[in-house]
Formats: sequence, structure tokens, C-alpha cells
Amino acid sequence: MSTDCNFDCGSCGESCSDRQEQQTSFIEKANDLSSVKKVIGVMSGKGGVGKSMVTSMLAVLMQRKGYRVGILDADVTGPSIPKCFGITEKASGSEVAIFPNRSKTGIEVMSMNLLLDSNTDPVLWRGPIIAGSVKQFWTDVVWSDIDYLFVDMPPGTGDVPITVFQSIPVDGVFMVTSPQDLVSMIVMKAIKMAELMKIPVLGIVENMAYYQCAKCGEIHHVFGETDIKEFAGENGIQMTAEVPIDRKLSNACDQGMIELFDGAWLDETANMLEGILEDNAQEA
Ligand code: ADP
Repeated sequence: MSTDCNFDCGSCGESCSDRQEQQTSFIEKANDLSSVKKVIGVMSGKGGVGKSMVTSMLAVLMQRKGYRVGILDADVTGPSIPKCFGITEKASGSEVAIFPNRSKTGIEVMSMNLLLDSNTDPVLWRGPIIAGSVKQFWTDVVWSDIDYLFVDMPPGTGDVPITVFQSIPVDGVFMVTSPQDLVSMIVMKAIKMAELMKIPVLGIVENMAYYQCAKCGEIHHVFGETDIKEFAGENGIQMTAEVPIDRKLSNACDQGMIELFDGAWLDETANMLEGILEDNAQEA
């Protein structure tokens, strides 16, 4: 270190061993009244694979474990979180902040559908405007005292997922896939995108993995059997989970009753999430 170091590496030409590289970060500051411990993204390579369903179930499981949970619905053009939780009341706000709505069990939710006059109004906005509104869900919404904020990402690798990764401090993502999607290049693209943006991929959830007959208990791999574990192993991803096709799940979502879902498929995933927060508490 130079003897006349002013600790401002940006204005210094020396390449000493203590040099701190200037980092360009686009991460936005959360609302002053917000407190969020962990931000967990849920993404998929394409739409319709059950990403919102998995986001909702993970949120419910963490809430059942006694944590304070929120869901930021970043799927602006296809928002389905309020419907799954049966939230119909519009979001409220003041001149300086927007307040999320609460589900029946107290999960905080912000979604474009809570701001539109009608649930069926389409959002006909260009990518940058949509991306800007997602950013505002982070900067302008008061997420008060949240342990886990789940971000239901829009499918694919477009404008909005990039904005989420660049502007919200995402701690890790789960990749949701359906069996026929898994082996395709699409899910790999999403995994590579997260890796390129230095976001840890926490695990893969294979949704609609099988169907179990309610009468005889036989398991049918409707879309064929997949090699999810091998696929995850080859890509250095440790956590995998399987959720079956279950009519009770889609009914629960349709009726806004996802908080009543019954099933242990994502218990291990929830335990792993709990570990992330505990590890942090021990490090602090
Ligand atoms: P995405 O967010 O990937 O677009 P959704 O979570 O909205 O997908 O799910 C698409 C549809 O499939 C919804 O109607 C949902 O209720 C249904 N669905 C998702 N997962 C399951 C499942 N495991 N069993 C039965 N229906 C499901």
C-alpha cells in the first residue's frame, strides 16, 4: 500500500496488493421501511410448467414453519399468485410507498393484478416498462420484516428476468421444470443465465413428474421417466424435488385455497431453505 493512500482506489493509479476493484452494481435499494432477509427466485425455461404453483407451495411451507414470508409476483403479464391465494382486494398505497396485500395466513403478496382495475385487463407494455414495474415492486413496496421473499419470475431469459437478477439482491433460484421440458435445451438456458449472472441455482423442482392413481396407488409417468438426478448432478446442482400431477393442487389453486395444500413433496426443499437462513444467523 502506498504511504499516502487515501483508500479511494477509484482515484489512484497504483496497482498495489490492497487494491479494491471498483464494482459496478445495479442492485437497487429496497424501500427504507422494508426488511428482507432472503430473496429466493423461482424460474422456469418456459411458461405453464407450474412455476407459480411451486412458488406458492414453497411460500406456504415456510410460513407453516413460522417464518414471515412474502411473494413478489414478477410475472407481470401472466400473474397467477393472487388467484392461487384467493386475494381479490386491490393493493393500497401512499405518496411514498405501496403496501402488499396479505393472504389468509399472512403471506404478503404484491402482483400487477392487485393494481389493475380488472383481473382480466392485459398488460400491453414493452419490456423495459414491465421491467421497471418489477423493480418498483422491490424499491417502492414496503416488505416489512420478511424472512423469505419469493420472486415468481416470468418464464424464459428475457428482459424481466435480467432486470430481476440485476436490480434485486437474489440469494438463489429454484428452477421449475416439467418432465418433457427437463431434457430440452430451454431449462439449460435458464440455468446458464442464472450462473452467468452469478446467482446460485439452489435446486431443480420437477413438477408434474408423475401421476399416482387414487384407487390403486400405481404411479404413472405420464410424460415419460426422466433423469433429473443425473441431469442435476452433471450440472453441479444438489437439490432436486418431484411434485406429482395432482388434481387437488390445481383445484386448490383455482379456488384460491393453496394455503390448505397437503403433501410432503417440497418438505426437503423447505428444510434446505431454512438451513440457508440459519447458516447466515450463525455467521452473523
Ligand atoms: P407457470 O407459472 O409455470 O406458468 P402455473 O403454476 O400457473 O404455471 O401452472 C399452470 C397450470 O397448471 C395451473 O392451472 C396450475 O393449477 C396447474 N398445475 C401446476 N402444477 C400442477 C400439479 N402439480 N398438479 C396439477 N395441476 C398443476
